[in-house]
Amino acid sequence: MLAVYACDPAASRGRRFAQPPAPTRTEFQRDRDRIVHSSAFRRLVYKTQVFLNHEGDLFRTRLTHSLEVAQLGRSIARALALNEDLVEAIALAHDLGHTPFGHAGQDALNECMATFGGFEHNLQSLRVVDRLEERYPQFDGLNLSFETREGILKHCSRIHAEQLERRDPGGVGQRFLAQTQPSLEAQLCNLADEIAYNAHDIDDGVRSGLITLEQLQGVVLFEDFRREVVADYPKLQEQTQDRRLLYETIRRMLSAQVYDVISATSAALQQVKPASADEVRQQAPLLVFSAEMRRKSQQLKQFLLHQLYRHPRVLDTTGQAKQMVRSLFDVYIAQPQEMQGRFVARSEAARGTPDPLRAAARVVADYIAGMTDRFAGREYERLSQLVQMPQQAADNI
Ligand code: MG
Repeated sequence: MLAVYACDPAASRGRRFAQPPAPTRTEFQRDRDRIVHSSAFRRLVYKTQVFLNHEGDLFRTRLTHSLEVAQLGRSIARALALNEDLVEAIALAHDLGHTPFGHAGQDALNECMATFGGFEHNLQSLRVVDRLEERYPQFDGLNLSFETREGILKHCSRIHAEQLERRDPGGVGQRFLAQTQPSLEAQLCNLADEIAYNAHDIDDGVRSGLITLEQLQGVVLFEDFRREVVADYPKLQEQTQDRRLLYETIRRMLSAQVYDVISATSAALQQVKPASADEVRQQAPLLVFSAEMRRKSQQLKQFLLHQLYRHPRVLDTTGQAKQMVRSLFDVYIAQPQEMQGRFVARSEAARGTPDPLRAAARVVADYIAGMTDRFAGREYERLSQLVQMPQQAADNI
């Protein structure tokens, strides 16, 4: 059933700690199951995607976003005869390393960690599955297969790739140094991520009132389908029906992008004819949008960046979120005993390392990155009783 260029679980490069095969599941199905049962996965439900978690019950969270990426990814994988289970595993894990409060949280944590090696959410997702989950007696992390870990590490700076390569030669850091590609399944998850957030951020943006259908008329990818829907169902232009107009437009937009990826990728595969998953890795990206769809998607991204992600109301809450993360970081650095047990123990162990400050800061970064929005908010409140914290930050969060 699988194409020759798909990842075959029986030919997996394996796990860091060898384990006997499962009787009824392939290696990638097993990875997916481990991810679904992890604590980090459950926390995604209370982590911000764009809108803060408590702002409304219908906004996407990291969890529902990840499910949408998995759905889109699986649909495309099936059409291209790629490995659906691997796509699902990568999609469900791709955002595990995200901090609370969305990109604001990650930017703040990266600033706090500037002199201690920085903070990257992709690298953190890998840390979660490689080290931070503590569920198995034999090893730290989830001990996932190479192919799933390769897909989870979507981006990586050169300096971090060099560190990974020193620890694990020929591992998942290597492709960033050799500038090769990951599997088609991993490439697919990147694109499915983009398709998902472009669509659901329009939906959430309109729901929040921060962007309007009128503004969206300047976005080609949206407007072409909106017109088509109105021509098919003129009644949807009535005010009471505009939700259906929005949904039907987004639905057609999603389908068009899915079909575009399938046809552009089929054409690329037809031309290159990779004979194996490893040959895919030596080529330029093969899982692609057509040039026209790439341009349209880019325009939509620019629109969302300027009209939604940088909307004054979004920036206002992100400013407060950053302040909270910075304050939490400072308090835990000064008083590591305020963290939960296993992090206190790790913080104590950091004292015996060659660079104790750096090691201790990493423990704090891991602790904060793992928090949900609401746990971070509660911690901020609790710690405000103990130390002087900038109070206005918590007012709206
Ligand atoms: Mg994502």
